[in-house]
Amino acid sequence: MSPLPENPYILLTPGPLSTTPSVKAAMLRDWCTWDDDYNRIVEHIRNRLTGLAATAPGYTSVLMQGSGTFSVEACLTTAVPDSGKLLVLANGAYGRRIAAIAQRQGIACIVHDSGDLARPDTARLTAALETDPSISHVAVVHCETTTGMLNPVGPIGRIVREFNRTYIVDAMSSFGGIPMDMDSLHIDYLVSSANKCIQGVPGFGFVIAKQSVLEQTEGNSRSLSLDLFDQWQTMEKGRGKWRFTSPTHVVRAFARALEELEAEGGVDKRFDRYSANNRYLVTRMEEMGFIPLLPERFRSPVITAFLSPDHPAYEFREFYTRLKEKKFVIYPGKVTEADTFRIGNIGDIHARDMERLAEAVSSSIYWE
Ligand SMILES: *Cc1c(COP(=O)(O)O)cnc(C)c1O
Repeated sequence: MSPLPENPYILLTPGPLSTTPSVKAAMLRDWCTWDDDYNRIVEHIRNRLTGLAATAPGYTSVLMQGSGTFSVEACLTTAVPDSGKLLVLANGAYGRRIAAIAQRQGIACIVHDSGDLARPDTARLTAALETDPSISHVAVVHCETTTGMLNPVGPIGRIVREFNRTYIVDAMSSFGGIPMDMDSLHIDYLVSSANKCIQGVPGFGFVIAKQSVLEQTEGNSRSLSLDLFDQWQTMEKGRGKWRFTSPTHVVRAFARALEELEAEGGVDKRFDRYSANNRYLVTRMEEMGFIPLLPERFRSPVITAFLSPDHPAYEFREFYTRLKEKKFVIYPGKVTEADTFRIGNIGDIHARDMERLAEAVSSSIYWE
């Protein structure tokens, strides 16, 4: 077997991200999609995910083909019945995407958009739940990858629980990298995907759900392929069976990625590494004159948005190309209210990489 080709660059993007050679190597075998060996791996993954998300019993997980958005859409169309109404707390592109999905699926939906730079307004949430009994579900993004904002999923969850509504959290870019417990955060559905903090490759997403809530959703889905209830039933009854062709190689790589998460010391230790990466990154960037978009108390250890340098000669493309020549790929901005670029620090990225990145940034500042 020929060795794995070397990566041309390190991805500082929030998924797909840089994975270990051993995760990539796990894909170098062909797997049958209905074979017992394969289904056992799927069951193992489902159990591990449930264990990572909740310590209390009563939770289950479902894997879904496609990128993360497919799992968000599967979750929404299955969780919210025609008689329901969704309240979305949005403060970035991913929160707004939840509302766009609801609109496409014909789900009644209202949006509290606090703008990209502010956290959701919990007083407004409380007032809405108090006055509108038709709101059945509340959805929010945990780490809003647009800005790197970490939303207060716990305090929001307490309010949603107080009013006895169902709580959906898009924890796509935080699950596996930030410790969280669905039970104490009152989360009914948590959505994430293979290629974020678990450090797998893209190809499927997953939903971890409170089983007693998921059990009530039969027949809700407006989509056949995205029916989370049917997918769950097939996985439960077939012990690891998917309804349609599954991304076998990706699943194999993900199983390996979960082993490596465990070997690293679990989510707490991964959180420590990401946090150290992030602290170093922000400190060095600030020394070089870059300004983070958000105040420190709002920021996640996953991805950081920086204001574009206020200099007529600065151009993102040029900066990006210079960094890429030095083997680092960063991310353009996605905020409407400010001109930004973003640097992610999740994936198989360590202190030495962050040091080399800081050197690369320093030598790519061409506009001064
Ligand atoms: C990555 C991400 C998604 C899903 O994006 P895909 O491109 O569909 O994988 C959804 N929400 C958040 C917060 C994300 O970071």
